[in-house]
Amino acid sequence: MTDLPTAGDSGWSDPDTLGAIPPVVAMTYCARCGNSANKGNHVLCRQRLAAEPPVHCTTCRRTLAVERSGREWTATCKKHGQTTGILQDA
Ligand SMILES: [Zn+2]
Ligand SMILES: [Zn+2]
Repeated sequence: MTDLPTAGDSGWSDPDTLGAIPPVVAMTYCARCGNSANKGNHVLCRQRLAAEPPVHCTTCRRTLAVERSGREWTATCKKHGQTTGILQDA
């Protein structure tokens, strides 16, 4: 009979152990109007977002607490933390 060796697959990595990797944050909502980013047309929204800080969290749609300092902005979602950016000249 054939006895296959079954000892230690040391190269095997369990996907459950990958919890340390930060989750991919998908852009679900438009940061400007808060509607679904996949529906409708957000071209104008994107233009506005070049000159103004975002209003909504793109992940959960919560209203962001925005602080501005010159052209830099910091938008804080209660759930997803801070995002920062720099506004362009119009
Ligand atoms: Zn929009
Ligand atoms: Zn959020």
